[in-house]
Amino acid sequence: MRYDVIIIGSGPAGLAAAIYGMRARLQTLVIEKQPMSGGQILNTYEVDNYPGLPGIGGFEIGQKFREHADKMGAEFVTAEVLKIEAEADYKKIITEKETYETRTVILATGANHRKLGVSGEEELAGMGVSYCATCDGAFFRGKTVAVIGGGDVALEDALFLARACEKVYLIHRRDEFRGAKVLVEAVKKQENIEIIWDTIVERINGADQVESLSLYNRKKDKREDKKVSGVFIAVGIVPNTEIAKGIVELDESGYIIAGEDTVTNVPGIFAAGDVRTKNLRQVITAASDGANAITSVEKYLNMEAQN
Ligand SMILES: Cc1cc2nc3c(=O)[nH]c(=O)nc-3n(C[C@H](O)[C@H](O)[C@H](O)COP(=O)(O)OP(=O)(O)OC[C@H]3O[C@@H](n4cnc5c(N)ncnc54)[C@H](O)[C@@H]3O)c2cc1C
Repeated sequence: MRYDVIIIGSGPAGLAAAIYGMRARLQTLVIEKQPMSGGQILNTYEVDNYPGLPGIGGFEIGQKFREHADKMGAEFVTAEVLKIEAEADYKKIITEKETYETRTVILATGANHRKLGVSGEEELAGMGVSYCATCDGAFFRGKTVAVIGGGDVALEDALFLARACEKVYLIHRRDEFRGAKVLVEAVKKQENIEIIWDTIVERINGADQVESLSLYNRKKDKREDKKVSGVFIAVGIVPNTEIAKGIVELDESGYIIAGEDTVTNVPGIFAAGDVRTKNLRQVITAASDGANAITSVEKYLNMEAQN
């Protein structure tokens, strides 16, 4: 069997595409590697900027998107896509279990947390090293933790953790934050947040649990250790484009080059959500991409039918 469209990834972009695909009466399959749909937003405690749903939980909004796609009758498979082969008039989608054929593909594989790349990070992951304050913050109630980064996510994480932790070090390698002004002001006002400027983490120390961080202040050329029970790393995201490499064109940061119409340089392959080049990576823009992708898929299929 050959599908009209296979959507890889079931975050907000993939799920919106599934809903629109079913409404367009396309033979639609969604392939998701995680046992649960929703993507990155599942890790968020609260989403306060999706119209009509103020303060909804990240997990809940992910589930609502999935329930909607299920209600429309979209077909889902749990498997990791390992490879895409683009033939002239169809594509092969290869998972660890099976190979699927489709006339078009929507890459909606999103993004992941960037790693610090220091010693101790991998060894102590899940043992005090975390990439999600809203998921793991509760384990550090009354303790001292550190947040690494200087953007919106780092600032939000620090504020969130300050509610439950005794002390939060916010460690940033520069001397000013990149994040929103309102967050910067809130962080500076919060008494139990101590900002450590111009400083990088050289090592995360601990036997089987995080115990301290080895820090280096670049301006003062000074090294010191800080005792912490947990470290929350918020230094940005990287696109999940392993399977797209060598197939579609990527920019220098690894994002798939595609505009609002989600069209890539390869006919029949579209890119929706956080994985594509864009200004704002949010649930609302990911969902919008999913809808646009199906419109582009329909255009492509109609053109093919005429040829
Ligand atoms: C901590 C945090 C807080 C956030 N808070 C907000 C907020 O308050 N409001 C807001 O609007 N946005 C927020 N965002 C951003 C929002 O979550 C993303 O913009 C959105 O989830 C992007 O959706 P997506 O569908 O493009 O990708 P993702 O959500 O990343 O989903 C991609 C999916 O593809 C799957 N996948 C990847 N590779 C493969 C493969 N090879 N095979 C099969 N499946 C694959 C992944 O498992 C994942 O489920 C937040 C993000 C984070 C990390």
